[in-house]
Amino acid sequence: MRSSIHLGFIALCLASLCRAQESTGTTAAAASVQVVAVRARALIDGTSPQPLPNQEILIRGDRIAAVYPSGSRPLPAGARLLDLGTATVLPGLIDCHTHIFLQGEVPAAGGYDVQLLKYPASYRAARAVVATRRALEQGFTTIRDVETEGAGYGDVGIKQAINDGSIPGPRMFVATRAISTTGGYPLEGYAPEIVVPKGAQLIDGPVEARKAAREQLDHGADWIKVYMTHRSWVDEHGELVSQPTLTVEELKAIVDEAHGWRRKVACHAYNGIGLQRALDGGCDSIEHGLEITDAQIAQMVRQGTWYVPTLAVYYYDWDPADTPTGMRDRKRTAVHGVSFRKALHAGVKIAFGTDVGGFPWSIPSPRNSRAWWSSG
Ligand SMILES: [Zn+2]
Repeated sequence: MRSSIHLGFIALCLASLCRAQESTGTTAAAASVQVVAVRARALIDGTSPQPLPNQEILIRGDRIAAVYPSGSRPLPAGARLLDLGTATVLPGLIDCHTHIFLQGEVPAAGGYDVQLLKYPASYRAARAVVATRRALEQGFTTIRDVETEGAGYGDVGIKQAINDGSIPGPRMFVATRAISTTGGYPLEGYAPEIVVPKGAQLIDGPVEARKAAREQLDHGADWIKVYMTHRSWVDEHGELVSQPTLTVEELKAIVDEAHGWRRKVACHAYNGIGLQRALDGGCDSIEHGLEITDAQIAQMVRQGTWYVPTLAVYYYDWDPADTPTGMRDRKRTAVHGVSFRKALHAGVKIAFGTDVGGFPWSIPSPRNSRAWWSSG
């Protein structure tokens, strides 16, 4: 990826140039119509079957005005030529499943829990700012960030800072706190007498579910994120089992509320009862979807449910094969690939998502990612 330059990143740089020019006294009219021709050895335009060689992209303001073979047109008067040499240019990438606030340490440094127990919100926000810049630099011009892992509405503020030009970053769709049930999300494993923070907003019953959705929408959620499964393990028959969380009635209250606001609901669901409830409750997207039955795939096609499989993160950092978690790690990838192929062939709508965000996209899955921590 090092030799690739992304149009979105270039566009952002140009926007910054515009702002700089405005602040130095150039007339607003001149600053608003900057014209730049970007020249590159190859262009992946997203529709042609092959990369196009030696192309020039003419950008007026923040819009691509034309694309043509290099040198086939004269440079417009006043235009600046940005020659990228041997670089390949491609459209900005979209990651539909990120967590810019999921930046836990390796277990020796405190793991997932240390983020919620010991890190000041300002520290987590500062690292999220670094994550958004890195997203852009690694080619992602849009991310759907599906919850802040106990950092409250921090994503709303980061998005605001990007949108007003305070910090660099991709276009963000944010989910804020996410929703699960009692017993359905960490922090876990502490003495019952001790109240610990949770990485999601926990609800019990349709009334609390709807209230949580209203709160999150009120505070700026573009999507509602719901955890429909939590712990998972391999049972005595060698099958993957996932603990379900919300009931259909609880989920329906959330979906009904979100749809009323013209917002959508993303459901983390591995398999089994929880995944079925996600579909019956009207989720707009299934996140992960490790094991999806033929009937569930047919239901997704029928209902127009999106599938965001986040395939890559489950292939790394496996525990030893003879341990319960090691068995689970292997089983997850075994069933995931099968489900993905079935969904692809059945025509399920599939979106690209990684579960990356808080760590670089060049790292497959450090031990701080969603795929790692115990509930998986
Ligand atoms: Zn995730």
